[in-house]
Amino acid sequence: MSRPNIDWTTLGFSYLRTDLRFLSHWRDGAWDEGVLTGDNCLHISEGSAALHYGQQCFEGLKAYRCRDGSVNLFRPDRNAARLQRSCARLLMPTIPTERFLDACRQVVLANLDYLPPYGSGGALYLRPFVIGVGDNLGVHSAPEFLFSVFCVPVGAYFKGGLTPTNFVVSRYDRAAPNGTGAAKVGGNYAASLLPGREARERGFGDCIYLDPETHTRIEEVGSANFFGITRDGHFVTPRSPSILPGVTRDSLLSLARERLGLEVEERDVFVDRLDEFVEAGACGTAAVITPIGGIQNGDRFHVFHSETEVGPVTRRLYDELTGIQSGDVEAPGGWIV
Ligand code: PMP
Repeated sequence: MSRPNIDWTTLGFSYLRTDLRFLSHWRDGAWDEGVLTGDNCLHISEGSAALHYGQQCFEGLKAYRCRDGSVNLFRPDRNAARLQRSCARLLMPTIPTERFLDACRQVVLANLDYLPPYGSGGALYLRPFVIGVGDNLGVHSAPEFLFSVFCVPVGAYFKGGLTPTNFVVSRYDRAAPNGTGAAKVGGNYAASLLPGREARERGFGDCIYLDPETHTRIEEVGSANFFGITRDGHFVTPRSPSILPGVTRDSLLSLARERLGLEVEERDVFVDRLDEFVEAGACGTAAVITPIGGIQNGDRFHVFHSETEVGPVTRRLYDELTGIQSGDVEAPGGWIV
């Protein structure tokens, strides 16, 4: 395959066809070995349950090029476990962790030319997914499934360094109390397209979802998790059965406690008590850490640290996290593959 001609400095977060992707088929009760294929199109039945009933789920994780040329995957076992939970929730066969890790490894090694260089701020984003396929009409689980992993080089989220973004509280709900909010399934994202567009049309980065039962507690920030730093220096992130349990969120809980020496709390975050926080941010694989400048809630606009400057704790968390991901800072045991 010809070497790609990519300008690493202008990469954003958009699809680019890379050389090879992993594809495995589940039939008659088992996954096959899987293959690497150059074909980036799937040939599936028009009756596939993924198309009509949203029987599908996905993951997102990144591979980072280190200073010494080696390649880091950041906590891929966490993504494997979350994919297993998403599959189970949608009645799909799960992918054993070793098989998931092996597919990710194969895809990274087969597309090394697409891995952004060390220091570019970019990474190779991996998109594993499972879909229900095969002839079907009624609302049933599919007779067959596909598991695939493809990859796309993505750029630094912030071209000009860490910049705060403003968000608006949504009047739409993202997840029902016993629904699929904690699973990474396409339906959640289809439902977020309209609220996301409305937020961006109003000049905000994305919207903030409240808990659907009482509309008083913050759940998520677009497709990222919320965190705040209180006046007395505690790291706080919402506890709720309907948020997506993010790998970044979990990592920051641990880094805030172990590396920054902060108290950490998973608890309710009330949208009418934002002044308890001196800094706030959105965290996720794509968002990394996005400082939240302010939050618009109805006709009230609450500014945290600043609309233009990053707060000191957010900065330290960002440096620690991105340092670990790119291999410059020693990682807690088992975090890097
Ligand atoms: N919440 C939602 C709704 C998301 O889509 C994501 C991105 N996967 C996150 C939170 C953050 O999760 P992670 O840190 O694992 O990327």
